[in-house]
Amino acid sequence: MMLAREGAPLAEWVADLIRRICAGPENALGGAFDEPAWGTPLVGFARGDDPLFVAYKEHVGPEHWTPAEIYALTYPDAPAEPAELSVVSWVLPQTGATKADNRREALYLAERWARSRVFGEIFNEGLRRQVAEALTARGYRAVAPAISPLFKTVDSERFVFSSTWSERHAAYACGLGTFGLSDGLITPVGKAMRVGSVVVRAELPPSPRPYTDHHAYCLFYAKGTCGECIKRCPVGAITEAGHDKRLCRVHLDRTRPHVRDVYGFAGYGCGLCQAGVPCESGIPEGLQGS
Ligand code: SF4
Ligand code: SF4
Repeated sequence: MMLAREGAPLAEWVADLIRRICAGPENALGGAFDEPAWGTPLVGFARGDDPLFVAYKEHVGPEHWTPAEIYALTYPDAPAEPAELSVVSWVLPQTGATKADNRREALYLAERWARSRVFGEIFNEGLRRQVAEALTARGYRAVAPAISPLFKTVDSERFVFSSTWSERHAAYACGLGTFGLSDGLITPVGKAMRVGSVVVRAELPPSPRPYTDHHAYCLFYAKGTCGECIKRCPVGAITEAGHDKRLCRVHLDRTRPHVRDVYGFAGYGCGLCQAGVPCESGIPEGLQGS
């Protein structure tokens, strides 16, 4: 296995690969919507030995993998030192039409949002797979932790639900955004998005992380204002104390019959707290560069 010394050119190559896949026909809402599921992606990078990944065992859950752990589980014949690894993370923004539709909803998600949740996420799984395979074929072994057969979610007293890999925390480490009151990641293209990532045995230059506070882009935490996501939640799952994952999960389950009976496919979702709020499509006014 060749160790990466290509650095910046390899990072640009993988970012371009992600953009090209997103510009292709697989990025589609489907059904009556002849349009992409996602807008132009953002891409960021973090070092495999970034101390944040060890800290996530405390903040996300003890079972959360470091990059070196999932790499060693995937390639037990040739485990890597943390410093030999990098994390590549991307943000897939909801389109303007999808956000506009969900803004109008007050109880159940709009069909476009349901389609991006189901078919857009199937695309995102394929994107993870294609990026990992392309890097490996180029000589840099890679793994997409969230679609690893070893990935699992865990019920936890302290964290309610946690998992062995959090895409949002990977994106935070890669400089792509900070958390809001509703738990969503507020990125430069907003909170209405989904994320994906791979771990690769290559030394890629880390992206700047223009924040030190993990809530820097949320108006509630930064300025004591807003709270618009509290009003958007139809089931009271967001309060000034934060996001109640259990209440949210109950509502998500309730959306299944709606998606099946009204939109005609198997799925679920919500995202009402991600649309029609000041952090929907960008970092709120006054918090850029904080
Ligand atoms: S809607 Fe307001 S309070 Fe809620 S996450 Fe966004 S900025 Fe924070
Ligand atoms: S996803 Fe829906 S149910 Fe969950 S917190 Fe947001 S608005 Fe509430």
